Amino acid sequence: MAYFAAVTYPPGSPERPLRVAIVGAGPSGYYTVASLLKAEDLTVSIDVFDRQPAPFGLVRYGVAPDHQKIKLVARVFEKAARDDRVRFFGHVTFGEDLSHAELTACYDQVVYAVGGQTDRKLGIPGEDLAGSLSSTQFVYWYSGHPDFMGLDVELDCETVAVVGIGNVAMDVTRILARSVDDLATTDIADEALERLRHSRVRDIHILARRGPVQAACTPPELKELGEIEGVAVVVDPADLDLDEASARALEDDRPATKNLEILQGYAGQPPEMAETADRRIHFHFLTSPVELLADESSGDGEAGDGEAADRVGAVRLERNRLEPRESGYLAAVGTGERRDLPATLVIRAVGYRSVPLPGVPFHERWGVIPNQGGRVTDPETGEPIPGEYAVGWVKRGPSGLIGSNKPDAQETVDAMLEDLPSLPPVDDEKARPEAVEELLAGKGVRWVRFEEWERLDRLELERGKAQGRPRVKICHVEEMLAALDARSDA
Ligand code: NAP
Repeated sequence: MAYFAAVTYPPGSPERPLRVAIVGAGPSGYYTVASLLKAEDLTVSIDVFDRQPAPFGLVRYGVAPDHQKIKLVARVFEKAARDDRVRFFGHVTFGEDLSHAELTACYDQVVYAVGGQTDRKLGIPGEDLAGSLSSTQFVYWYSGHPDFMGLDVELDCETVAVVGIGNVAMDVTRILARSVDDLATTDIADEALERLRHSRVRDIHILARRGPVQAACTPPELKELGEIEGVAVVVDPADLDLDEASARALEDDRPATKNLEILQGYAGQPPEMAETADRRIHFHFLTSPVELLADESSGDGEAGDGEAADRVGAVRLERNRLEPRESGYLAAVGTGERRDLPATLVIRAVGYRSVPLPGVPFHERWGVIPNQGGRVTDPETGEPIPGEYAVGWVKRGPSGLIGSNKPDAQETVDAMLEDLPSLPPVDDEKARPEAVEELLAGKGVRWVRFEEWERLDRLELERGKAQGRPRVKICHVEEMLAALDARSDA
């Protein structure tokens, strides 16, 4: 029996640390952790949850395997993850292992950092034919994402079409164009490496719906295509003749000017280069796919249980022209001029999209969690929902480089700190760090701690060293858990 009334301390004080849950262990999640750890006069305890046993999201499952330097950013996240104030709960799915109500009951603040897990749609007939893949599927597959192992990637074909001209389209194109000897020195998933070893792909067609000035890729990525051994990049000089509005747009746009120079370099290459090259990358500007056509010799037209689905055999293309909108945006408008390009693999790299989280508001059209500067808002009232925040792509949409998430996370953290005095109270019993472990243990969830991930990390690095590669990824969850459990028994 207590003789004195319990003293209540505000969250964030040494007596009652601020309890923060971050859903998603990718770059935006760990930049949020790093910002919170740096906040002055704040005592904080942070739990990071992720569906996968491995942390770092897009650094592990998005950055291309031939871009190892970009992956070094993981060191920043490792430093944050090893801090005593931070715990990792890998292999815990929000909405399944932990509900929205359970999480918000245990934490003063919850931050959604789930990124963009799916793809935007083209919305054209034939998009769902076998052999038509989204870049999310293809990228997750070659990156060894457990959910995409065994993906049907048909590389027994000579011609591939890649839709879109952003940096993801560049990544996808490089992976298809590089020699397998090159790829074998990277951390590409073994399954993808094996399939690419038998690839017959010779021609990769990049379909850009607007002109060269509007290309969304950045100059280093565009230039890199021309540096791949045995590969010729083919650009029709006529495609680089600019309309008046594009020429004007170029005046104060340095990256677009650089892109155009690189493309002019490709257009000036002697045609013999393309004839003798092992593989060729063709750019098609002002070109949109309007339909994917089934290969008549595939399937039976009725994809039922156990029956072969129709496969894509060609892409129907339409020539576009640019039309200025009031905002100054130059839109692609079809001219009606059409032709068919044979292709038995089509990869749509037209942008990522976030998926709704159970119990959390979602703006369907924009594909983000509605928010004001990171504060999640109620779609009915537009008012912030106390204690809930968003960061990264699920907050602002799928744009920017990994580093763009740093200022984005700071903005969300600033809002979180500003809100400290007005947070709804959390039951002290539930705010105990052990409470969430008890909850998960009670449900029989086998979560992966950061120290356990570090053991897996060492195992992957050791396997890589033996093969002269940066790492050999473990691509199946069961295998990861088995490796951990075998080692802890040892
Ligand atoms: P993105 O940069 O937004 O590019 C999307 C591309 O798809 C654009 O060319 C866009 O054309 C096109 N597109 C959209 N809808 C289309 C449609 N219906 N039909 C035809 N084309 C369509 O997206 P992303 O390539 O997925 O990249 C996402 C972000 O990650 C970007 O900020 C990117 O720079 C970054 N990233 C960086 C790296 C790196 O640094 N190496 C690697 C990968 C990704 P319009 O311009 O006409 O809309």
